[in-house]
Amino acid sequence: MNMKNIKNTDRQISEAVKNEINRQKNTLELIASENFVSSAVLETAGTVLTNKYSEGYPFKRYYGGNQFIDICEDLAIKRAKKIFGAEHANVQPHSGSSANMAAYFALTDWLKKGRKILGMRLDHGGHLTHGSPVNFSGKLFEIVSYGVDKKTQMLDYDEIRKIAKKEKPAIILSGASAYPRKIDFKMFREISDETCAYHMADIAHIAGLIVAGQHQNAVPYADVVTTTTHKTLRGPRGAIILSKKEHAEAVDKAIFPGIQGGPLEHIIAAKAVCFKEAMKPEFVEYQKQIVKNARTLAEELMNNGLTLVTDGTDNHLMLVDVTKIKLTGKAAETILDEVGITVNKNMIPYDNRTPKDPSGIRIGTPALTTRGMGESEMKVIGKIISDVLKNPDSNGVKLKARSTVKELCEEFPIYNTV
Ligand code: PLP
Repeated sequence: MNMKNIKNTDRQISEAVKNEINRQKNTLELIASENFVSSAVLETAGTVLTNKYSEGYPFKRYYGGNQFIDICEDLAIKRAKKIFGAEHANVQPHSGSSANMAAYFALTDWLKKGRKILGMRLDHGGHLTHGSPVNFSGKLFEIVSYGVDKKTQMLDYDEIRKIAKKEKPAIILSGASAYPRKIDFKMFREISDETCAYHMADIAHIAGLIVAGQHQNAVPYADVVTTTTHKTLRGPRGAIILSKKEHAEAVDKAIFPGIQGGPLEHIIAAKAVCFKEAMKPEFVEYQKQIVKNARTLAEELMNNGLTLVTDGTDNHLMLVDVTKIKLTGKAAETILDEVGITVNKNMIPYDNRTPKDPSGIRIGTPALTTRGMGESEMKVIGKIISDVLKNPDSNGVKLKARSTVKELCEEFPIYNTV
């Protein structure tokens, strides 16, 4: 990456960026929601498209000079529809949170009617925007929640159906941020039909898996689908909304002029590049490897005595209950950070600790799979994580772990150009 101009203009920022590049190069990124975009996506996100105002939609803009911007956004829309098999796509949401806000507004007629939403509890794996009281969703809507079964720690569709029948929500929301098992979107559709609710799916975490056929697609079974573009999908930071034709106008109006102004066209062009990459056979192999890596890492952690929520994983992530080895989520995150392994503390189902220092950590394989690591590296990493967490006071164990992390980072570079 050429940093000459940043360095000449702003030393403090260039220094911070340089340090962040080194951090990304020299640590093992196991945060389940993160990834490394391709050089093509990175380049596109840094283009002069950032200079342009383009309120409105392709070929219907409120500003002149959009002939080339229209090409980019139109390609992003067409490709998004193709890879997900959707009737309509809006590629303008700045983030997953704004995509969810717009989707709720589109389906609830701008708060005028049917304001109840049934979503997954945050502490059982849902996202803040699925109804948390500290989020706009919990403040603007009436929220009812479902969780996972206490014994299996998995979604209990009979229970969700029971809640839906009793509460009669306007929207039933499927999708999660920290759920290690498959989600049955077809079942959510059936429950929504039985209770006359819209089915909205938030597939932010598993979008890449879906595109590559490694998870059931939510699109045929949901009225509206939202997803971020920067997780397993491996695109720029942002989001899209997919929908059935009948909701297209409401979705578009909810994004603009509803909750956003000028779209980020440099990011939209980068989304288009990401969607093109997602059409390649290599992308299918990549997503298959993410899942294989997650399964191998989960097995290694369990073989070394760690306890996983649901005893394993079907997707790209796993949750470890670290209280079983007398740690807290916060302590485990810090200890792993010290040896160059990045994870995040996370609530686990029926957690009796607080979100600031919960009982678990969440671990995911998309970023390391992008670096080219496979099952044998996952076994090595699983062993280091277990050793470090089980011996938090041993400097010897930490020293050995740090040196293995360094070797792996050198063997699997992120960008050869930065
Ligand atoms: N939905 C889900 C399921 C998520 O996991 C996230 C982010 O982690 C979001 C929405 C929000 O995305 P953003 O951080 O881009 O607002």
